Amino acid sequence: MKKKIKFGPAGNPIGFNGQTVDVCDYINELGLGAYEYQATYGVRIKKESALKLANNAQKNDIKVSMHAPYYINLSAQKEDVLERSIDRLVQSARAAEWIGAYRIVFHPGFYTKYTPQEALKRCKGAISELLNNLDSLGIKNFTFAPETTGKRSQLGNLDEIIDICQSFDHFAPTIDFAHLHARGRGCIKGADDYHKILGKLEDGLGIGSGSESLHCHFTRIEYTDAGERKHHVLNETEYGPPLEELFEALIDCGWNATIICETPFLEMDAILMQKMYQKYL
Ligand SMILES: [Zn+2]
Repeated sequence: MKKKIKFGPAGNPIGFNGQTVDVCDYINELGLGAYEYQATYGVRIKKESALKLANNAQKNDIKVSMHAPYYINLSAQKEDVLERSIDRLVQSARAAEWIGAYRIVFHPGFYTKYTPQEALKRCKGAISELLNNLDSLGIKNFTFAPETTGKRSQLGNLDEIIDICQSFDHFAPTIDFAHLHARGRGCIKGADDYHKILGKLEDGLGIGSGSESLHCHFTRIEYTDAGERKHHVLNETEYGPPLEELFEALIDCGWNATIICETPFLEMDAILMQKMYQKYL
């Protein structure tokens, strides 16, 4: 059975000069179906604007997600860093509720001096505190989506993301395939590799053909032994991971997905991805 994949840019389209509250008009005109609002340098959107953005997205039937600030480390050693990280996620959840964002994407943290197991444990402790804070503030409509990270120094390989999402309500994964490819030093070569990833998600989290939508990021990526180095545009096919094979795997498995384009060409490459996908329909 064929399911729908929605495509959209990570942040405001390059060709868009208007105000963010109207951005979904433009995305709809381009024929795209998704948008990831970027709060990567801090959650600054006011409630009034956020509600306008939500209206505009609904009017245009655009699926909106939100990227939380980069400066988050839920496995930090220092208590003040942990507290600030939790605060940023609280602010993100509040704004996401206004915007109507179906996912709040974030990078969980860094291993630093900890073993991966210790870092994961610290991260989960911080998430428990985060969820308690949100509960006491009465913030209820949110789904955090920890992202598979691109550097080997970062918490967030596929198993860790699955583990985090298994451990808490209000959590679902963001699968950045380029990050998995980069931290795996070029590990995604074909449809089989994508099937392995989807299989793990299905076994670990029960994601499958009946699920709402798998939230994904995609770009061509250059990497070193340490992981991701640079994002490249879609046409630079000397960089992986492959894209058609991802479509094949998602279609084979009958999954719904939202794919956010993180190449330097944002909306242009999102359109190109969508065109490639439409060949399969
Ligand atoms: Zn990403």
